[in-house]
Amino acid sequence: MKAIYETEHSLDNSKEYDVACFGDGADKSQSGRKVKMKLIIFDLDQTLVDFIEVHDRVTQNLFKKLFNVDAKLTEIDFAGKSLNDNFRELARLKNIPEDIFQKKSQQLLEGYDITFSKSLPQDTAKYILPGARELLSELSQTDHIIALYTGDSPEIVRSVFRATNLGKFFKFCLYGTEVETRADMVRLAIEKAETLTQQKFRDKDVVLIGDSTRDIDCGKQFNALTIAVATGSHSRVQLSAAGPDYLFTDLRDYTKVMRAVEQALNLAG
Ligand SMILES: [Mg+2]
Repeated sequence: MKAIYETEHSLDNSKEYDVACFGDGADKSQSGRKVKMKLIIFDLDQTLVDFIEVHDRVTQNLFKKLFNVDAKLTEIDFAGKSLNDNFRELARLKNIPEDIFQKKSQQLLEGYDITFSKSLPQDTAKYILPGARELLSELSQTDHIIALYTGDSPEIVRSVFRATNLGKFFKFCLYGTEVETRADMVRLAIEKAETLTQQKFRDKDVVLIGDSTRDIDCGKQFNALTIAVATGSHSRVQLSAAGPDYLFTDLRDYTKVMRAVEQALNLAG
């Protein structure tokens, strides 16, 4: 694991562009400033928000209704996986025959979207993790591309954004219910970012921020800069063993996380 260096570094070796040429607002640009644009991909659950108790309740409710079993999401290692994969794993754990699960899986996903939306509390402030809003707000003042990737469905993300008002910070979102693997989402994110900016995003130009070892593993497939945050079900020890570039207890000290992101500028060289 790298230390989090506090010093500023020259960007001379980095591929540069004039920020005034990109972005959607002149207010983001500082005249003459040159920065290296990054694609920063955030995970959602237990990285930025923690609605796991709601996810657990909704899962319990639907598995009871559709399969007549008591089943909670937290009974399996759900972190960093798509909703479909988690449902399938939970069904196996509960000895629900594959054909019965298959027959009802669409109903399960659709019911989940509706029930999750209805189950969200009115006041969601305590469900936004410390530092998350501040970090997103700070990053949105830069010209980095901020994207979201999540195992959740588009409807769940819409519900979370409606409740938390975090959606405004993201250029685009990728959903685990629409692809096979987490790496597929990163691939799509890179494609989208390249189309948007006409710039290549390779290696440490891509930053992955997530709470699970699967986020780190996924980032490594792309040689991305991986930032782990221990606000989920995977412990610091588990996360550390996966070898992220940086590991934080949470996002509370968001300026440090910002510096971790900027370190990538120099690593990218
Ligand atoms: Mg997560």
